[in-house]
Amino acid sequence: MSEFWNSRIKKLSPYVPGEQPKDRQIIKLNTNENPYPPSPKVIEAIKNAAGERLRLYPDPECATFREAAAARYGVKPQQVFAGNGSDEILAFAFGAFFESGEKAAQILFPDITYSFYPVYANLWDIPYRTIALAEDFSINIADYKIPLGGGGTCGGVIFPNPNAPTGVAVTLDDILSLAEFLEKQEKVLIVDEAYIAFSGAPNAKSAVRSINNHPNLLTVHTLSKSASLAGLRFGFAIGNEKLIEGLCRVRDSFNSYTLDFLALTGAAAAVSDTAYYDEITNRVIATRDRTAGALRNLGFTVLPSSANFLFVKPPRISGAELFAALRRRGILVRHFNKDRIADYLRVSIGTDEHMDKVLEACREIMSN
Ligand SMILES: *Cc1c(COP(=O)(O)O)cnc(C)c1O
Repeated sequence: MSEFWNSRIKKLSPYVPGEQPKDRQIIKLNTNENPYPPSPKVIEAIKNAAGERLRLYPDPECATFREAAAARYGVKPQQVFAGNGSDEILAFAFGAFFESGEKAAQILFPDITYSFYPVYANLWDIPYRTIALAEDFSINIADYKIPLGGGGTCGGVIFPNPNAPTGVAVTLDDILSLAEFLEKQEKVLIVDEAYIAFSGAPNAKSAVRSINNHPNLLTVHTLSKSASLAGLRFGFAIGNEKLIEGLCRVRDSFNSYTLDFLALTGAAAAVSDTAYYDEITNRVIATRDRTAGALRNLGFTVLPSSANFLFVKPPRISGAELFAALRRRGILVRHFNKDRIADYLRVSIGTDEHMDKVLEACREIMSN
């Protein structure tokens, strides 16, 4: 605390990112990074871009990237927004589409979800209400449909699909029915598709293909997880042109050049190389499903995951105990000390070799 902070900053409780240990020996399964390298085409594009061109500002319209993403997703470039990580886009989206102030209607998101959402809501002074996940940790879409009238409406809805840190997905039908419901109330639905690539047949559950039917539906994507580019800091959103324009208005009231030339070049190469990424995604999915089966055999509760991580509860010992025991064996996972999930750990999917080490460690810990 400092007397030099303004009252708004004093009230914030900022997001705490997962640890990035200096020790390279550690098996790092705590922030859902991809265990495989980025596409060689991305590395080559960035190397070629690192030259005299850096003298100039990057393209504020991000045209090359937007065209590449539009071609890949079958949308128009004007329906694509690029940002410095999807976190930045989420921050802009809260500011662009949700009303702030005491009198504003509450926005809704799950009680167990990405912990950045309440941080953005507080930053922008947007009132919010959390909706409890069902007993099986799934999102019950009906809970988000608050009718007009006595109880009022909500101010908008946001959740990840698949959800984090549970990995549990909702169906596309559910998402579209909520989008339709909210559209009548002139409210925005933001679906954070950070992990959608891992949800099965290429983007089967993605809402991207439905944006032309739902002007209030914004899908948010990141290259950090499925494209193995967490270090590049690149995210993008796909939605109706007017939503994209709203995001641009916030960005251009803040920093018109949030993306540097190297990132823009690498990102365009990444979204264009579907063959490489489909292959590593399939590998991660196969490793995930094998690991889930093996952990269930050890007596773990494993939530059905559509993401590149597993949310697991060990038998007999607590989440904190397993976290510490894995840590002692050089394996870093994520533990959330929070109601309902304190006995769970989120384990990112690494290579088969990494996951064999995890399984071996769990066997050993459980037999003690
Ligand atoms: C990792 C993650 C993000 C952030 O992605 P960046 O593009 O790295 O900022 C956003 N939403 C969810 C649900 C995530 O897990």
